[in-house]
Amino acid sequence: MNALAPNMDHHWLPFTNNRLFKQEPQVFARAQGVRYWTPEGREILDGSSGLFCCAAGHGRPEIADVVHRQLMTLDYTPHFQRAAPVSFEFAQRLAALLPPGLDRLFFGNSGSEAVDSAVKICLAYHRARGQGQRSRFVSRNWAYHGVNIGGTSLAGMVNNRRDYSGVTFDTLHMRHTWSEEQRYTRGQPESGADKADDLEDLCRLHGGETIAAVFIEPVAGSIGTIVPPKGYLEKLRATCDKYGILLVFDEVITGFGRTGAAFAAQEFKVTPDLITMAKALTNGAIPMSAVAVHRDIQAAVIDAAKGDRPELFHGYTYSAHPVACAAGLAALDIYRDEGLFARGQAMSPKLLDLVFGLRNLPQVTDLRGYGMIAGIQLKPGANPGEKGSLVQRLLFDAGLHVKATGDALIFAPAFVVEEDELARMGEVLQKVLGRGD
Ligand code: PLP
Repeated sequence: MNALAPNMDHHWLPFTNNRLFKQEPQVFARAQGVRYWTPEGREILDGSSGLFCCAAGHGRPEIADVVHRQLMTLDYTPHFQRAAPVSFEFAQRLAALLPPGLDRLFFGNSGSEAVDSAVKICLAYHRARGQGQRSRFVSRNWAYHGVNIGGTSLAGMVNNRRDYSGVTFDTLHMRHTWSEEQRYTRGQPESGADKADDLEDLCRLHGGETIAAVFIEPVAGSIGTIVPPKGYLEKLRATCDKYGILLVFDEVITGFGRTGAAFAAQEFKVTPDLITMAKALTNGAIPMSAVAVHRDIQAAVIDAAKGDRPELFHGYTYSAHPVACAAGLAALDIYRDEGLFARGQAMSPKLLDLVFGLRNLPQVTDLRGYGMIAGIQLKPGANPGEKGSLVQRLLFDAGLHVKATGDALIFAPAFVVEEDELARMGEVLQKVLGRGD
C-alpha cells in the first residue's frame, strides 16, 4: 500500500461530506507546534488548535514521554471497584484549578460523554433529595453539547438533532444571545442580558420545580463563538438559585485558559454547580473528559445510597484511563510551568486585532471574539454551510487550518503561537477572505 495514498473507502469520516472529501482529501500526516504537514510535506498553520484541543501546541515531548512510561508501568486498570494512584493525583490537581467547591471529578472519554454523565448526575442529585419530578432540561438555540443522547437532546444546532427526535429527551430551549446590534462587537456585548429572562418564562410556564438543570456554553463555541452579554450568566445563575435548578457550564472548549482564566466560570465570575471539560484536558493527546461536580452534589448522591451498591450506576470501561490521566498531568504541568493561560491572555489582544482587522473584507459579515477564540461570520453562499466549507478548503489550500461551522470560521490558535506565526495566519485569512467571489 502506498503510504501517501491509502485506500480511503473504509473509514467513514464524522461530520464530513465523505464524497467530497474523497475527491479532494485534506490529510495531515505530521504536526509540531502550531504547524501541520500534509503527506506530501506541505506546511499548514494550525489556526484552531486542531479542534480547540492542543492549547500547548502539537508534539509535546513532555506528554509523549509520560504516556510511554505509563503504558509500560500500568497500561490499564478498571475503575469499577478498583483504581490507580494516577487518577487520584490528576483529580486533585484539577480540583485545585477549579472554582471552590467544584472539586469532585467524574471521568469519561469525550466531551459528549461528559455531557451525558452530567445529565445523569443532575438527575441522581435531585432524586437523592426527593425531587424526582425534576426531569426537564433547559439549553438554548444554537447550543452544541456533543452528540450522544444527552448532548443531542440539549442541542440547539438544528442539523445535530433534527434526524434523531426518536431518542431525545424533553429539553426546553431559550433564545441564543446574538442580535443585530452586537455585530462586530469585540469582547462581551453590552446588550442581550435580557435573553436570560427566557429561563424565568420557562420556569413560570412549565414549573421551575420540574426542571433539573440548565446547560450553557459560557462562550458558545461550535456555532462560531458567541460571547455572553454582560450580566447574562449572572442572571441565569440567579434564576437557577431561585428555582433550585442546577447550572451546568459546558466548558469543553472554554476550559483550560481559552477565555483567559483556567475556566470561563472564573473569567466571567459566575460559579455553576457542574463543569464539563475535555479537549485541552490532555492537550488533545489522549481522549479524555471530566465532569467537575460540586462536593455537596456528590455528598447528596452518596448519602442517599443504600447498602453497599454503587451510588451512581454510571461509568465507562475507560473512565480515568491511567494513560489519559498521565497525559493530563503532563498537560497541567506544561500549562503551569510555561504560564500558558497568562500567555494566552497576553496574546489575546493581538489575536483580536488580527481578527477585527478583517472587518472590511468582502467575505466577512460579522466578527466576534474573547480571549483566544474568535468567530468570523462569512457572507453566505447559495445554501447554508456551502460558503463555510468552500472557505475552509481555500484556507487549507493556502496553508491554514481553521475549523468552519456552517458559514462561520472559528479561529483559536494554540497559546504558544508566536507573533510572526499569528501574523502569517492573518495574511492567509486576508488573502482568502479578500476574494470577491
Ligand atoms: N460540548 C461542547 C461545548 C463542545 O464544544 C464539544 C465539542 O466540540 C462537545 C461538548 C463534545 O465533545 P466531543 O467531540 O469530545 O464529544
